[in-house]
Amino acid sequence: MLKTVPVSSNRKTGPIAVTYRAGACNTFGTCPKTCGLNPSPSAGAAKIDADYLAAVLDAVPRNGVAWTYSHFPAAEIPAPIPGKTVINFSADTMDAAVDALSSGRPAVVAAPAGTVWDGGVEYRGVKFVQCPAEKSEGFTCMQCGGGLPLCARPKRDYVVVFVAHGTGARKVGLSEDGGCYAASGPTAIQWHGTRKSGAANDADALRVFARSLPPGSFLRHHVAGDVGAE
Ligand code: SF4
Repeated sequence: MLKTVPVSSNRKTGPIAVTYRAGACNTFGTCPKTCGLNPSPSAGAAKIDADYLAAVLDAVPRNGVAWTYSHFPAAEIPAPIPGKTVINFSADTMDAAVDALSSGRPAVVAAPAGTVWDGGVEYRGVKFVQCPAEKSEGFTCMQCGGGLPLCARPKRDYVVVFVAHGTGARKVGLSEDGGCYAASGPTAIQWHGTRKSGAANDADALRVFARSLPPGSFLRHHVAGDVGAE
């Protein structure tokens, strides 16, 4: 199930186009079972939805940029292809992020709540930089990177860090399941609504949505959700 939003009111993304993707039976149904942040791993997906993934890669606004994140294993995520949506590997650990980067995939990592990354941190020869929208009130993806948001850059030699927030934040970095920022609060409301009233043919809906956006638009796929087959 896919929800499309032409102009988001999300405080962090700013007024860009976004989507939410949920399973029809369970909101976490498109997220991988293996994601350490998933509080309902048994309801997660065992594999990627190939048709939907193809639609995501193609869904780039004309003269614009598109990006997303996936918690599926890095080896299953397509490395960046020119002109296609950039898919960031969402790592649970710094080691996994560095390994993904070494394999040619852009990576981000969820860091435990309260950790400080001012000035960036170097680990295994790779710089880790915190998302600027987390550090500055009013800063959004719209301003990030001076026209090319960091997460939309396919060839990065640094990892973007997201410091855990939300009610499950204390679980990030621990072996306990859970910690997904979208499991509570306003994002959860949008996401649960997607399960009930989103478009059932998500691949078709996404293609139509991307074509409808003004030239030069920014599109962030999946404020919540992933590319899994429920
Ligand atoms: S690093 Fe930039 S593009 Fe990525 S989430 Fe933060 S503000 Fe948005």
